[in-house]
Parts: sequence; C-alpha cells; structure tokens
Amino acid sequence: MNYKNFPMVPRVIFGRGSFNQLNEIIAPKRLSMDAPFIYLVDDVFKSNSWLTSRILLSYDDRIIYISTEEEPKTTQVDNLVEDIILSTKERPSGIIGIGGGSMLDLAKAVSIMLTNEGETKSYQGWDLVKNPGLYHVGIPTLSGTGAEVSRTTVLTGPEKKLGINSDYTPFDQVLLDPELTRSVPKEQWFYTGMDCFIHSVESLQGTYLNAFSKSYGEMAFDLCQEVFLNDTDMSKEEAEDKLMMASWHGGMSIVYSQVGIAHAMSYGLSYVLGIKHGIGNCIVFDQLEEFYPKGVALFKAMKKKQGIQLPKGVCTDLNEEQMDAMIDMALRLEPLWENALGKNWRRKISSKQLKQLYLKM
Ligand code: NAD
Ligand code: ZN
Repeated sequence: MNYKNFPMVPRVIFGRGSFNQLNEIIAPKRLSMDAPFIYLVDDVFKSNSWLTSRILLSYDDRIIYISTEEEPKTTQVDNLVEDIILSTKERPSGIIGIGGGSMLDLAKAVSIMLTNEGETKSYQGWDLVKNPGLYHVGIPTLSGTGAEVSRTTVLTGPEKKLGINSDYTPFDQVLLDPELTRSVPKEQWFYTGMDCFIHSVESLQGTYLNAFSKSYGEMAFDLCQEVFLNDTDMSKEEAEDKLMMASWHGGMSIVYSQVGIAHAMSYGLSYVLGIKHGIGNCIVFDQLEEFYPKGVALFKAMKKKQGIQLPKGVCTDLNEEQMDAMIDMALRLEPLWENALGKNWRRKISSKQLKQLYLKM
C-alpha cells in the first residue's frame, strides 16, 4: 500500500483583527526593493477603507482589484501573469490574495504561473507543476470553500473546469480574521457556507474515507449545523468565527478524500451556464436525496431556517447539445464519482439519470 504524502499550509494566524498584523508577517519575505508584493483583492473592497487602509504599500507594491463577476479562468491568470511580469523590475516577493474562493484561487494560480513556463491551461490536472510557486498568502473574506487550505486552484479553461492540483499549490501563509467576513451578504454567506457543508457530507459518505478525513469532516459537519441550524441565537461574531473554522476543516477533510456528486454536477452547471460554485452546489445538492439522504434532509432544514429560496428550472431552456456538454463535463470528473459510488461507479449512474436530475434543478 502506497500512501500519499501531502503538503500543508505551514503557517496560519487566527483571530479577530489579525489582519492588522499582515504587514509585519510578510515584511521578512521581501526579497529586494525591486521585488514587490502584489495584492490580488476582490473589487468589492475597492472603496472599503476599513480593509484597504490597513494594507501598507512600500516601494513598488501594488493592489490589483479584480472582479468576481465570473469565476477564475486560465486566460485571466495568463493575462495577470503577463501584466505582472511587464510591470515589475524583478520577480515579485509574493502574491497575496484577499477575498473569497475566487481570489484565493487566483492568487495560488498566479504564484505558480510566475515560475512555470507556458500557458495556465496546460497545468490543469494532477501533479503537472514543475517548479515551486512564489511565496503566496491567502486571506479569506468569505468562509466555506476551503480554498485557504486546499491543494488545488479551480480554474475554467477552454476545454474544462479543473483544478491545478499540486504540491506547490497550498499557501505558504494563511491569515484567518473572521472579522473580514462581516460584510458578506446573507445569501452568499449561506451558499458558500453550504459549500463547506457539502464538502463534509461528500467526504464523510465517500468510499475514500479514512480516519484522517473523517475527523476533519465531522468537525466541519457539526460546526455548519451549529451555525445554520442553531435555535439559541448565536452572535454574529461567534458564527463568523465558527464558519471560518468549519471551512478550514471541510478543506482538510478532502485532502485525503474527494468531493462527490454535487460537485461533479455543479461543475457541469458552471461550465455550461456560468452558475457559480456556491449556489450551483446548493441547486444540485437539493436534488440528491437518493445519494445523500441525511445530508440533503439537513440541508433542506438549514435552507428553510435561513429563509433561502433557490432558483428553479435553471436547465429547462438548454438545447440537446448544451445538456450533453454539461453531462460530459460532470462525468469526466472520475475521481469524484468513484469516491461517491465506488470503483464500479459507471454501472451505477447513467447519462440519462444525470439528465433527469439536471431537469429537476
Ligand atoms: P467568490 O470568491 O466568488 O465570491 C462570491 C461573492 O462574494 C463575490 O461577489 C464577492 O465579491 C463577494 N464577497 C467576498 N467576500 C466578501 C465580503 N467580505 N463582503 C462582501 N462581499 C464579499 O465566492 P466563493 O464561494 O468563496 O468562491 C467560489 C470559488 O471558489 C469558485 O471559483 C470555486 O471554483 C472555488 N473553489 C475553490 C476550492 C479550492 O479548493 N481551491 C474549493 C471550493 C471552491
Ligand atoms: Zn466546493
């Protein structure tokens, strides 16, 4: 038996207000005056001085504000890398991503692509990256994806939506300041929070499960229920703290495991319809009772408790070709299906079944 030897985030700081310590944490990592720190910041914070005034720019450091209108693309990474190379005198000292899963993934990908040749799309897959990336720091402002701990950066390319999974992907430093999530709108808080809940269910119900994944998965599973199903009124601060840790554990849980059917099908929705990860997972998971009965029942209870209405009929206007593309995209994610249904998964699920499920969403 051969076990995989995984890298982990080597440094993490947790605490409300810990964002104030960012500058002192990264200062020793500055390589030279000509090697700047580049901040990739969600443009939702563009005029938010509460956050941005605490980023101290020295020498050639700069902030690049990025829209999350669409989820990260391989071409977007290529463009950012080119822009950074052309506008800096030396290779940057580090890349700092500040935002939700989208910004964290962009920061990881840019850091890798600044030290690896060619186009980003050629690294989508498992263990294709040759050189370590630049020093990179992740600062989540939205909890749930687990992108702050994971070994992947999910990107949409010309042919597929697939992560760059590599030992060089995880952050060198993560800063967890739950206060940064205080401005997240209620719906988004739920959708991305459910991403974490679904990670835990898919990991706990998966055939890849071992004690490592189980311990983290159970922690995330319980924390999500405390946050979204609690009857005693938990303070907003406590919920922010707990969901940030739930996200971390949910991400850790899939290190040694995999996600499952909701993720496979939601990648299809995203690829063909551009539906985003958090809400897409919710739309799919809502229809997966037959695969995850207990998880889906809890999900429906949380949805009700939080007063969330999911969109309906998202696939009804698709033509045959689009539906086939969606099903193909979903079925391509073999490890996800194998985790969910076992080695013989192909005998347990068909394109026809997937089509029926998509039409119910
Ligand atoms: P996101 O980063 O796309 O952000 C969603 C919305 O929330 C955006 O409009 C953003 O501006 C807003 N937002 C973020 N922080 C905010 C704040 N503090 N206040 C107000 N608004 C805020 O959403 P997400 O769900 O965190 O990330 C989704 C992305 O993460 C997808 O691209 C998905 O593929 C990826 N993902 C990656 C992994 C991984 O392991 N790498 C895992 C799961 C998902
Ligand atoms: Zn996810």
